[in-house]
Amino acid sequence: MRNIRSIAVFCGSNMGASSVYAEQAEALGATLVENGVTLVYGGTHKGLMGVLADAVLSRGGRAHGVITERLQAKGHIHPNLTDSEVVPTMRTRKERMAELADAFIALPGGIGTMEEFMEAWTLNQLGELDKPAGLLNINGFFEPFMAFIDQMIKEAFLPLSHRQSMVLESDPRQLLDGLRNFQPVTVPKWL
Ligand code: AMP
Repeated sequence: MRNIRSIAVFCGSNMGASSVYAEQAEALGATLVENGVTLVYGGTHKGLMGVLADAVLSRGGRAHGVITERLQAKGHIHPNLTDSEVVPTMRTRKERMAELADAFIALPGGIGTMEEFMEAWTLNQLGELDKPAGLLNINGFFEPFMAFIDQMIKEAFLPLSHRQSMVLESDPRQLLDGLRNFQPVTVPKWL
C-alpha cells in the first residue's frame, strides 16, 4: 500500500451550479484530515478551492497553497493557510505542486482543473511520475469525460487497460483507498 501523506487537489475556482459540489468538497477535506493527509492546492479562497481549504483548516488539518504572483496581485490568495508559496508562473506552480504531493485528485471544475489533471495523468502514463491520479465523480460530473476517454479507446488512440490508469470514485474515502492501493498499468500506451 502506498504511503500517501499529501495530495494535490485541483478543483473549480467557481462553486458550480449545485450545492452538492461544495458539500462533497467539504467531505473530501474532512477525509484528508481524518487520514492525516496534507492538502496541496492552488492557494486561493475562491470557489470549491476555498471551500476545500476551509474544510481542512477548520478541522485542524494542513493546507499548503501554491499560487502565482499574478493571482496573488489580484487578491486571490487564501489568508489563513498553514503554508503558502507564491511562484512566478502557472507552469512552475504545477511543478511545485507535483513535487509536494504523493498523489493527485481532481474535483469538478473548469478548463484549469482539467488541464492540471490531464498533465498529472499523462506524466503517470509516460512513467515520468509514479503518483496516482484520481477523479472525485461528484454528481456524475465526469461521466461525459469518461465517455470521451471511451471514444479514444474505441478509435484506437488509447489502450483499454489505460482506463484503469487512474482512479474514479464518487466517495472521498473510496477515492483515497483507491489511490493508496493503486498499481500502475504496465501496458505501453502505443497500440
Ligand atoms: P478552473 O477549473 O478553470 O476554475 O481553474 C481551477 C484550477 O486552475 C485550480 O486547480 C487552480 O490551480 C487554477 N486556478 C484558477 N483560478 C484560480 C485562482 N483564482 N486562484 C488560484 N488558482 C486558480
